[in-house]
Amino acid sequence: MKAIDLSGKTALVLGVANQRSLAWAIAESLGEGGAQLAFTYQGERLQKNVHTLAAQFPEAPVMAMDVTSEEQVEGVFARVEREFGKLDILIHSIAFAPREALENEFIDTTLESWRIALEISAYSFIHLAKHAVPLMEDKGGSMLALTYMASQRVVPKYNVMGAAKAALEHGVRQLAGELGPRNIRVNAISAGPVPTLSARGISGFSNMSAHHREKAPLGRNIEAREVGDTALFLSSDLASGITGEIVYVDAGYNIMAL
Ligand code: NAP
Repeated sequence: MKAIDLSGKTALVLGVANQRSLAWAIAESLGEGGAQLAFTYQGERLQKNVHTLAAQFPEAPVMAMDVTSEEQVEGVFARVEREFGKLDILIHSIAFAPREALENEFIDTTLESWRIALEISAYSFIHLAKHAVPLMEDKGGSMLALTYMASQRVVPKYNVMGAAKAALEHGVRQLAGELGPRNIRVNAISAGPVPTLSARGISGFSNMSAHHREKAPLGRNIEAREVGDTALFLSSDLASGITGEIVYVDAGYNIMAL
C-alpha cells in the first residue's frame, strides 16, 4: 500500500501565530507524516504561543524570525544547518499589510503600504528560497507558499494583498523554473477562507466566508486540516512530478462563474 512518508525529511515552518494558523495545520500534517520540524515566529508577542504548541514536537527548534530582519533570517538558516545539516521542506505561511491598506479604497494605497505588503508577503519567499537552496542541494526539496484567489480576481477590500499574492504566485512559477534542474519543487496552495488571526483583519471576512460556503461546489468552507494534508502531499515524493503549480484547496469555489 502506498502511503505518505516524510520520515528522514526536515521541514522549516514559518507563520505559526496560534493553533488556528494554517501553518499549524500544516505542521501537524507534516509531523504526522514523520517529518522533523523547526518553527519560526515573529516577535515576542507570539513567543509563548509558539513554544507551547511546538512542545508537541519535542525535538523541534523554535526560532524568532521577522522576515524583514536579515540578521534573524541568517540566524535561522545557520541553526537549521547546525541542527539538521540539510533542509527538505520550506513552508512560507506568512503575509502582512498595514491595516489601513485593507480598510481604505485600493486607489488610496500608499507607496509605504505597497512596499510593506509586497516585501513581507511576496519578496520574502524569494529571499528565503535563496537561503534554503544551499541546504536542499544534495537531494532536492520542496518549497510551498500560501496564497489566495484575490491574486486573480477582484475581492473587495483585499486590496494591496491581492497585488502581493499575484507577485507571490509569479514568484512561485519563476522559482520553479529556475530551481527545477536542482530537483527543488516550488508550489503554492490557494486556500479558501479560514478564520485565522490574519483573516479576521480583512474587512468583511465573515461575508466573504459565507459567500464561499454558499457558492462552492462542495457547499461548505474548507478546514485548516485540508490545507495541512495538501501541504503534506505536495511536500512528499508522491508529488514528485508537480512544480510551479497553484493548487486550490477551496471546496471548488474558484471554478464557478455564477
Ligand atoms: P495567521 O495565523 O495570522 O498567520 C500569519 C502569520 O504571518 C503570522 O504568524 C504572522 O505573525 C506572520 N507574519 C506577519 N508578518 C511577518 C513578518 N514580518 N515576519 C515573519 N512572520 C510574519 O494567518 P493565516 O491565515 O494562517 O495566514 C497564513 C498564510 O495563509 C498567509 O500567507 C495568508 O495570506 C494565507 N491565506 C490565508 C487564508 C485564510 O483565509 N486564512 C486564505 C488564503 C491564504 P504576526 O501575527 O506577528 O503578524
